Amino acid sequence: MKFLLVFLIVLIVAWRWRTWRETAHLEKKASRVGSISSAEMVPCQHCGLHLPISEAVVGKLGPYCSNDHRLKVEP
Ligand SMILES: [Zn+2]
Repeated sequence: MKFLLVFLIVLIVAWRWRTWRETAHLEKKASRVGSISSAEMVPCQHCGLHLPISEAVVGKLGPYCSNDHRLKVEP
């Protein structure tokens, strides 16, 4: 009887630990998706391509997709 009780407690602890790990994993995944979707998209002033502001080349007249396109508009 005592062995059964110990076995049951170990089973419950293992189950709770797994559930906690899965929840932590899902929360981390959700926060990563949220940070990607919250990145501001800006259009290139030359070709109109939309790209995240963190990847854009910023010139005097606005953002560009590449340094090549910046030089075509702002020589
Ligand atoms: Zn461009």
